[in-house]
Amino acid sequence: MDLTAILSILPIFGFVYALLLAPTLVLLWRSGRMMRRRGLPLLVVAALLGFVAFAPMAPYQLQLVIAGDNTILGDLLPVILGGLSVFFVAALAGGRTFCGHLCPIGAVQEILSLAGHARVGRTRKTETMAVRFAVLAVILIAGVVFSVNVLGLLGLQDFFLLNVASVSFFVFAALMLLAVAVYRPFCRLICPYGVVLALAAAKAQYRFRRTDLCIACGKCERACPVDEAKEGDLKAECYMCGRCAEVCPVDGALRYSRR
Ligand code: SF4
Ligand code: SF4
Repeated sequence: MDLTAILSILPIFGFVYALLLAPTLVLLWRSGRMMRRRGLPLLVVAALLGFVAFAPMAPYQLQLVIAGDNTILGDLLPVILGGLSVFFVAALAGGRTFCGHLCPIGAVQEILSLAGHARVGRTRKTETMAVRFAVLAVILIAGVVFSVNVLGLLGLQDFFLLNVASVSFFVFAALMLLAVAVYRPFCRLICPYGVVLALAAAKAQYRFRRTDLCIACGKCERACPVDEAKEGDLKAECYMCGRCAEVCPVDGALRYSRR
């Protein structure tokens, strides 16, 4: 098989990989065998798939659907809608597994957040959500009314195709670099698919929950980069990073479990 043939099947591999791993992650978190450090290799694979195969890249595919870009969508529309729906159902079942370890954009930011601990704006959940809904409105109006692909203008595609001849490449690269100081800026402020998945995750059957063993020490709340570790938080913005479970000092006090 020559290189061109290999490159042509990589997107399919990426898609199947994501489809299989989403439910597997739910099972792993549920079993207690998944930990933050075990997720690191998955983040690297997801980031590489973004650069090598440009897939799975659900936020961009959703943007193509919004803008009705049939030149790129073509016959793939049913497959893309099917994929977007599958990850929505996965979020309804077990939270944002896709954002946590499968989306290349999320993976690049998660890896970068390790470099600087991404401390800025941790407790600004309401504000980030407000910005994100405003951005979603812009994306919808620009896409539906003017057929303008906002994520394309931002440089998402240029970045993952390493198109350094494009100014947009550097715009998106700067956004990604911001993740060193601000946890997942693209996910929390811009991503339209993230909004869809957040709505599903708020109703998820499985999520991180405290048990009766919790001693209310507050360590999980201080470790959470998105202010979602408090008792009663909906976990709509939980990216399943595992920081809360990692710092919890009592075995069994914080479990990924069913309602
Ligand atoms: S919020 Fe969007 S960009 Fe971030 S991980 Fe989820 S799908 Fe990817
Ligand atoms: S630390 Fe916050 S974002 Fe990470 S898994 Fe726990 S609740 Fe979710």
